[in-house]
Formats: sequence, structure tokens, C-alpha cells
Amino acid sequence: MPQSQTSLSFEIFPPKKEEEFENVFSLLRELKSLHPDFISCTYGAGGSRAGKTIEIVSFIQKELQIDAIAHITCVGFTREDLARNCDALMEAGVKHVLALRGDRPQSMSDEQFRNREFFYAADLVRYLKEHTDLQISGACYPEKHFEAPSLESDLRHLKEKVDAGVTSLITQMFFDNTYFYRFLEQIRGMGITVPVHAGIMPITTAGQLGTTVSLSGSSVPKKLADLIAVYGDNKEDMRKAGIDYAVSQIRDLKEHGVDGIHIYSMNKIKTTREICSQI
Ligand code: FAD
Repeated sequence: MPQSQTSLSFEIFPPKKEEEFENVFSLLRELKSLHPDFISCTYGAGGSRAGKTIEIVSFIQKELQIDAIAHITCVGFTREDLARNCDALMEAGVKHVLALRGDRPQSMSDEQFRNREFFYAADLVRYLKEHTDLQISGACYPEKHFEAPSLESDLRHLKEKVDAGVTSLITQMFFDNTYFYRFLEQIRGMGITVPVHAGIMPITTAGQLGTTVSLSGSSVPKKLADLIAVYGDNKEDMRKAGIDYAVSQIRDLKEHGVDGIHIYSMNKIKTTREICSQI
């Protein structure tokens, strides 16, 4: 079994408030003790969190000496912003980005969204390949991206993105591993050979279904829906059931020899630590 070759990584996000920043640095110090292969930090265009990604990835790279991945988005950057951002990353010793189309912030008008300088993630990838030496990862969707008319069209565009210079992929969260295995078979059949990190989101509160999960477009299997129906009203029981669900998903993925497990930590150290101790 090629289990030992499965990498482990985490995603974190910048806090909303300045005073919560110190908590993120403590969280990161604790995540280091779980020996991740890399930690990625999201980027939110608009609002107070824009710009904080650099500060966080610098800390991960310089202070913790863990490979950091900075998320960057078409929605968040003009060419000029991107050039400045890449210089700052280089200065911080960060060599890896996740190039994304990005979610549209509420503050952005239809017109601004339509007129963004980089349209698709692949356009960012082409720019980065031409102007920087950064290593570039991309996002992918085992159950298809919510805007794509079909999985086939989404996969065709994924292939274009990889061919433009993406060297690894991180998946959208999924809760049924069969979607992931089917997706892997399809992309390998199309000649996409880069490593794919499986995105795992622990569902530890019933509320996550109405927010994070519904936005992701990922389907909720009956087994998970049943857990939420039984434990949803009891905070601690729901947390434990959500951890068990994530652990069994990860164990199965490792048994299938996946390239990597990428845990959407949601900045929750206790849950992340408990999952890691069981895998
Ligand atoms: P793209 O690869 O550009 O694809 C977007 C859509 O366009 C797809 O439907 C695709 O099929 C289609 N498409 C692509 N190329 C073409 C073409 N040439 N012609 C027609 N259609 C095309 N969002 C944030 O704002 N900040 C984050 O930090 C962030 N982190 C994320 C991390 C991961 C691992 C994932 C999976 C998602 C993340 N997102 C983040 C959300 C992401 O930005 C959204 O899902 C976004 O809607 C799509 O981004 P993408 O990079 O996959 O887009």
C-alpha cells in the first residue's frame, strides 16, 4: 500500500479582525507540530482580509519553515496588483501559489466582475509562467464546478489550465469518495498526470451545510445527512461524528494511495489535531 507517500496539508484563512491575528500565528505553530507538507492560505478580495494572505504565508515560510502556498485570484488582482504581489511573495521566500478565478466579493458590481483583467484561472497561470518562477497549483472539482454546463466541459478547461503550467491540483471538498475516484480516472485518462490533493472538510456543525457546503456545490451523501439529523442539535456529539466521518473518508483515500490529503482546517486546531491523530 503506498500510504506513506500520501502528503498531508492544511488550508487556513486570514482572520476578519486585526486582534485575531495573534491567534492565527498560534494556530500555525500548533499546525506545525502535525508535520504538514505544506499549508495554504486563502485570499478574499475586498474587505479587511485582502492583503493579509501575504503576511500569513510569509510567517509560514520564514518563521515556521514550512512550504507555504498563497492563494491568488483573478477577481482580486489587476496585472499591476499581481506583479506587486509576486514581488512581495518572492521577498518573503514564498515560491508557490494556488491560482484561482476567485469568488466574487459582495462589494463587486456585475460590471467590475465582467471586466476583470484575468478572466479564468488559466489566464493567471499563463501570466505567472511568463513573468515569474513561482510554482503554480490549481483548483479542481470532482463533482464539476457549479458554473460549468457539464463535467466534460469543466474537465476540458481543467486540462487547458494544467497544460498552461499547473503542477498540482487541490480539489473542492467532497463527502463521497466515489466521486473522487471517478474524477481521478477521468482526468488520468485525459493525460492529466499532476498530483491531486483531496480536499477534506470536516463537518462539525449542522450549520456548515447551509453555508460552506451549499456554496461549494458538493453533494451530501445520505450517511452524512443522517449523522447531521441525529447529532446536529448536540454540539459535542456533532463534532465527534463529523471527525469520525472525515477520518473514515481519509483512511479510505489513503488505502487507495491518493497523492495527498488537504484538510480544510477552518482555523480549528482541536478538530484538525484530533483528525490527524487518527489517520
Ligand atoms: P477556473 O479554473 O477559471 O474555472 C471557473 C469556471 O470557468 C469553471 O466552470 C470552468 O469550467 C470554466 N472555464 C474555465 N476556462 C474556461 C474557458 N476558457 N471558457 C469557458 N469556461 C471556462 N476562492 C477565493 O475567492 N479565494 C480563495 O482563496 C479560494 N480558495 C480555493 C481553494 C480551493 C482548493 C478551491 C477548490 C476553491 C477555492 N476558491 C477560492 C473558490 C474558487 O475561486 C471558485 O470555485 C471559483 O468559482 C472557480 O475558481 P477556479 O480557479 O476553479 O476557476
